[in-house]
Amino acid sequence: MRTGAPPVAGQDYPGTYQQFLQWFGEEAACRRYLLQCRWPDGFACPRCGKKTEPWTTARGYLHCRLCGGEVSATAGTIFEGTRISLRTWFSTIWLVTSQKDGASALGLKRVLGLGSYQTAWAWLHKLRRAMVRPGRDRLGGRIEVDETYVGGSQKAGQRERGAERRQIVLIALELHWPKGFGRVRMRRVPDVAGSSLVPFICEVAQKGSQILTDGWRGYNGLEDYGYVHKRVVVSDTGDPAHVSLPGIHRLAALLKRWLLSTHQGSVSSKHLDYYLDEYTFRFNRRASRSRGLLFYRLMQQAVATGPSSCRQIVGHDPKL
Ligand SMILES: [Zn+2]
Repeated sequence: MRTGAPPVAGQDYPGTYQQFLQWFGEEAACRRYLLQCRWPDGFACPRCGKKTEPWTTARGYLHCRLCGGEVSATAGTIFEGTRISLRTWFSTIWLVTSQKDGASALGLKRVLGLGSYQTAWAWLHKLRRAMVRPGRDRLGGRIEVDETYVGGSQKAGQRERGAERRQIVLIALELHWPKGFGRVRMRRVPDVAGSSLVPFICEVAQKGSQILTDGWRGYNGLEDYGYVHKRVVVSDTGDPAHVSLPGIHRLAALLKRWLLSTHQGSVSSKHLDYYLDEYTFRFNRRASRSRGLLFYRLMQQAVATGPSSCRQIVGHDPKL
């Protein structure tokens, strides 16, 4: 496992389920793999910062030969303080990444025999927090941007800006030429004012990109931020505007279907951000030939993502 080189199936990650079972049959093997994911270029002591070959204490801690500091393999990752085996964690990650639509908490509880629905639910949320890499690349080229509404009720063809109860989700989608889509970014926003729309675009799209929107005035002024803004003309006949932005329209339909099917629509608004993260992770890797590669990517991000307590997951909403 090296940084910089493209990962190889059967070497850096299990290519098949059969291989997955062979590799991770024992807790010690899972631990070794976790360490490799966390320190692909060799262990660097989090306390003194130096590179050294640590020895492992009887209690499973890594002991730095230089400063004498001890660190647990899982400290500072989403696995920190877990009382359930890494094998079960690995199986969860395999399950979540090997199925096209992911796993629901109920499904996970059944398949892995986890103690409670709450445990399964919390685990999935911990993984969702690892699904979005901080500092990821910005979208470029031609990008459709529009809002969609999740939850609540909406009559066909009706479009209300800033409606209550329904959640507003902003979507930016790269378009490929002559057809097809690239990557997506999504975010829940409190309203559709320019002060909510424009900062999202500035954050997810490279300057110089062509931004396609409908005629909504909230998108005014994008040129001032270095974008080429193209309004897709919409007739005033009451047609839903999003038919002029076919990519977003399709993606929004897929997102809603996923929320309704895999998660039975049981997504509360305060957790919606994390479901959007999971959907983004899946959509942006939909062309990945190997499910094992998705397992590997999520493992890498899981060891680079800090822990979150159940209390944080259940009650706290840092994005509001
Ligand atoms: Zn040290």
